[in-house]
Amino acid sequence: MIRLAMAAHTPVAAGLWIDGRSVSARSGQSAPVLNPATGEILARVAQAGPEDVDAAVAAARRSWERGDWRRATVAERARVLLRLAERIREEAEELAALESRNVGKPIAEARGEVEMGAACFQYYAGLIPAFGGRTVPLSAPGTGLTFREPVGVCGLIVPWNFPFAITTWKVSPALALGNSVVVKPASATPLSALRLAELAAEAGLPPGVLNVVPGPGGAAGSALARHPDVRKISFTGSTEVGSEVMRTAAGDVKRVSLELGGKSASLIFADADLEKAGASVSGSFGNAGQDCCARSRVLVERPVYEEVVERFVARVQALRVGDPQNAATEIGSLISPSHRDKVDGWVRRGVAEGATLCTGGRPLAGDPFDRGSFYAPAVFRDVTPGMAIAQEEIFGPVVSLLPFDTEEEAIRLANGTIYGLSGSLWTRDVGRALRVVRAIETGVISVNTSWSVHLEMPFGGVKRSGVGRELGPSALDHYSEWKSVFIADS
Ligand code: NAD
Repeated sequence: MIRLAMAAHTPVAAGLWIDGRSVSARSGQSAPVLNPATGEILARVAQAGPEDVDAAVAAARRSWERGDWRRATVAERARVLLRLAERIREEAEELAALESRNVGKPIAEARGEVEMGAACFQYYAGLIPAFGGRTVPLSAPGTGLTFREPVGVCGLIVPWNFPFAITTWKVSPALALGNSVVVKPASATPLSALRLAELAAEAGLPPGVLNVVPGPGGAAGSALARHPDVRKISFTGSTEVGSEVMRTAAGDVKRVSLELGGKSASLIFADADLEKAGASVSGSFGNAGQDCCARSRVLVERPVYEEVVERFVARVQALRVGDPQNAATEIGSLISPSHRDKVDGWVRRGVAEGATLCTGGRPLAGDPFDRGSFYAPAVFRDVTPGMAIAQEEIFGPVVSLLPFDTEEEAIRLANGTIYGLSGSLWTRDVGRALRVVRAIETGVISVNTSWSVHLEMPFGGVKRSGVGRELGPSALDHYSEWKSVFIADS
């Protein structure tokens, strides 16, 4: 249904996805979903309230009790996941266009995310046949066995910046192990998760195993975090809301994993290949900086600081900002006018605090910018570590360049925020690379590249960037429980 509407460029009415079908919200409420780059209404989507979350959790619970997914053999579950990966690839262009139009992001980035989503289902389909318990040698007379069992109903809460990819990061390991799930997408970007549910049904997923409840976070999200039949919450979003979700979920001791904000640093040492280090621009401005991994601080060793500032600013000025549907576009629209104003507020604060704005840092006007929330990518120099722009997650196209004199100072600066999610370092010295990699408090770090997310490796943060890891084999731990069995010899 969503596909047809997108093809016709006419807004569609989309329901919640509960028990294998599209349904209206019990309150009858719906809300417009916009293309942030044009202001066009893409759809009117039903808005779940607590009573709809109850219905979705009840459907998930019924599917769990029925057991047709949980007790299916690994081969049967893998077959459905592989079919789903195939359906995603068959519909990749349509999904990428949907995501690009709903988030305002460049189509080239959206294509990459859709492929990653398909690869995720394929990856976990491949892992589950080898995922199991073991026999355990015991000091008691008997046999010890461990089982790995699914958790039950999982609540998966997703932000608006990478709606499709992050939904698949959570849904694929959860389903692979036989859990039933309720997904709560961000209110602004529910379309690709709803489309995923349609594709999963076509791939043979039994009804009730995957439910999607778009709606306001304070109503639908918090009802999910509170629901007594939900055994696990996996949340991606801001640190502030994440800690609230953790408190809510503590009420009945749910398992919780949190992927939260970041203020990641890119460290450029004087011995780095500075041409290559120029690629750090993409690590700072991908998804218009609305990226939890964005290297929003670039720390540069003083002897090359001026040269790096000059090269960095030149590359930022060459970034192509514009129509997200154009394959050459590198920066699309921000998610909303209010978010653009917030980003602009941070820039004004940076100026007021005495940082020098080298380029950008203003809303873009004229055609096609007037229809959306486009913002000129901003670079600050003369930033000191205590300034708000060097500490707070701005979540937009704003980067601060700070100089450092020694490796110790670089590490101190990199670690000097409440966050610890991602980061990069650029050097030709292998010994230094290993020393710094070990010293940085972060969940993920890349050397001589800005590429940080690989579906085969754990992804997540330390400090206030979160708890737990998604992706990689360890994601399976989050969606399973150990059961220890002792069989007496006599
Ligand atoms: P947000 O915290 O405002 O919302 C995230 C989700 O939580 C949305 O679905 C929202 O509706 C829901 N929500 C809001 N209030 C809730 C409540 N009280 N109870 C339950 N759910 C609630 O975040 P956002 O603005 O959508 O996304 C941006 C943030 O996400 C940034 O801070 C970014 O760094 C973070 N993020 C982190 C990662 C990561 O992997 N670490 C990835 C992407 C985004």
